[in-house]
Amino acid sequence: MFTRYFSSNRKILFLSIITGVFIALLLGSLQFLWSYHKREVKFDTLITDLSVYMENYFDELKTAIDVLQPLTLGSCRDVSAELTSRAAFSINVRAFLLVRDKNAFCSSATGPLNAPMEELIPQLHINKSVDMVLLEGTPMLPDTPAIAIWYRNPLVKDGGVFTSVNINLTPYMFYTSRQEEFAGIAVVIGKRALTTMSSTLVNAEDLHETPARSATLRHIPLTINLYADTWTKDELLLALLFGLVCGIAAGSLNFYILTIRLNPGKEILTAIKLGQFYVVYQPVVDAKELKMRGVEVLMRWKHPTMGEIPPDAFINFAEAQKLIVPLTLHLFDLIIRDAPRLQAVLPPGAKLGINIAPGHLHAESFKADMRAFNASMPPNHFQTVLEITERDMINQHEASPLFDWLHDEGFEIAIDDFGTGHSALIYLERFTMDYIKIDRGFVNAIGTETVTSPVLDAVLTLARRLNMSTVAEGVETPEQAAWLREHGVNFLQGYWISRPMPLEQFCQWRPDMSQAGE
Ligand code: C2E
Ligand code: CA
Ligand code: CA
Repeated sequence: MFTRYFSSNRKILFLSIITGVFIALLLGSLQFLWSYHKREVKFDTLITDLSVYMENYFDELKTAIDVLQPLTLGSCRDVSAELTSRAAFSINVRAFLLVRDKNAFCSSATGPLNAPMEELIPQLHINKSVDMVLLEGTPMLPDTPAIAIWYRNPLVKDGGVFTSVNINLTPYMFYTSRQEEFAGIAVVIGKRALTTMSSTLVNAEDLHETPARSATLRHIPLTINLYADTWTKDELLLALLFGLVCGIAAGSLNFYILTIRLNPGKEILTAIKLGQFYVVYQPVVDAKELKMRGVEVLMRWKHPTMGEIPPDAFINFAEAQKLIVPLTLHLFDLIIRDAPRLQAVLPPGAKLGINIAPGHLHAESFKADMRAFNASMPPNHFQTVLEITERDMINQHEASPLFDWLHDEGFEIAIDDFGTGHSALIYLERFTMDYIKIDRGFVNAIGTETVTSPVLDAVLTLARRLNMSTVAEGVETPEQAAWLREHGVNFLQGYWISRPMPLEQFCQWRPDMSQAGE
C-alpha cells in the first residue's frame, strides 16, 4: 500500500524535490531544444530565401544578357542606343560592356571605348563561360561595391558581355542587427567577400567563423554565408527560467498531492467520516466444550479504490500519524452500534476482545475514553478484554498502575501475540493480566519438529501457576487443536473454528465442531 512508501513527510519532501529537479531538467532541456529547433528553421528559411532571391535575379540578368550577346558582333555606333536602353531597364545594372577580341569596345554608360579586359578587370577570366568578381567600386561609383559578371559569347572570338551590378546588403544588415542570434551575412565570390559586418570588401580567408549556413548558387560561382550564434544568452536564460518554474510547480504539485490529497492520515479521518471502516467478529471458544465464550473484534477498511486494506497496514499507519485515538474511538462507536445485536447472540459474561494500540494506551484521554465506552455499552452483559501486545509494556512504568486501574473499572487484560517479543516471561510475573494470547507463530509450529513445543509447555505451566487463562490464536488444523487441548490451553481462536465475520454473518453463525471428533 502506498502508505508504506510515503509514510513520512521527509520522504514526500525528498520525492517532491527529485520530481522537481527531474521536471526542471526535462522541460528546461525541451524548451532549449525547441528554441534551438526554431532557430535552425529560421536559418534554413533565411538562407533558402536569399539563394532563391539571388538565383532569380541572376537568371533574369542572364536572360537580358542573352539578348545582348548578338550585339557583340556589330559596331558600337549601331548598338549603343539599344545597349543604353537595356541597361536603363535592367534593375541594379550599372553598365553593360560589349567585348570582342578581349577588348571592351562599347559601354552602355559611355558609348564606344577601347579597353583591354585584362586592364579593366584583371581578375576576370574571359575564357570561362561565366565568371564573377567583387569590385570595390566602379568608375562612376568608386566607393560602392559591385559585382562584375562575365558571360562569354561562344560565337565571337574572346567576346561576350560584361556587366557590373549593384550589390547591396544594407537591408540584411538591418535584418540581422534586429535578430539577436544573427551575426551577419557574407556574399563570397572567389577570394573576396562582401559582408554585413564591414562596409568594404574583405578577403574570403579572413572570414574566420564557420558559417551556420552556406549556400552556393546554381550556375553561378557565388556563395552566401550566414553567420549566427549556436545559442543565445536569452534562449539559455529562458530555458533555465522555464525549467525552474516548471520544476517548482511540479515539485509543489507532487508535494501537495502526496501530503494533502493522498495523505493517508487525512484519508483515515475521511474514511471515518464516510463510514469506510467496519468491524468483523472472530469467535473464541473454550477448549473443553468448544462453546463460544467470546469474540475478538477486528477492524476492516473497505477503501473505495484500493479495496480491503489489511489492519496491519492502517493501524500502524494511524499510529504513526497520531490518529490511533480517533480511530479507536470510532471502533468503540461501531461496537456500541452493534452491541444490541451482539447481546442477542452472546450470553451474559461473554468476552469482547478489543485490541488497544500502545498509542492509545498511553494517551491522556485513555481513561476517560474507556469510561465513556463502558458507559455506552449495555450494562452487565459483556466482559471487555483489552488486548495489549507485550512490546507495549516495555519501559512503561505506568503500565502497572494503569492495569490496576483497568481492573478496578471492570476490564480484563490479555497479553496479545505472546511469544513474539523478548523476555516475555518476565512480563507475566511483573504485571497482573488475565489472559495470555499465544501467538499464532507458536500454534503454527505444532506438529513440526521444532523446539517450540517445550517452550509452549513451559508457558502453559507458568500461566497456570500465575492463575492466568490461555488463548491459542491462529488454530487452523484439528491436529493443532488436539495438541492444545491436550496441553491444557483454555481457549481456542482461529480459522479452524471460524474466520472473522461481519456482524450479519456472525449473528447467524453456529459452531460446527464436527471436525473435532467429539
Ligand atoms: P491480532 O490481534 O493478532 O489479531 C488476530 C489476527 O489473526 C487477525 O488478523 C485475524 O484475522 C487473524 N487470524 C485469526 N485466526 C487465524 C488463523 O487461523 N490463521 C491465520 N493465519 N490468521 C488468523 P487481522 O484481522 O488481519 O488483524 C491483524 C492485526 O491487526 C491484529 O492482530 C491486530 O494487531 C491488528 N488489529 C486488527 N483490528 C484492530 C483494531 O481494531 N485495533 C487495533 N489496535 N488493532 C487491530
Ligand atoms: Ca488481538
Ligand atoms: Ca494476536
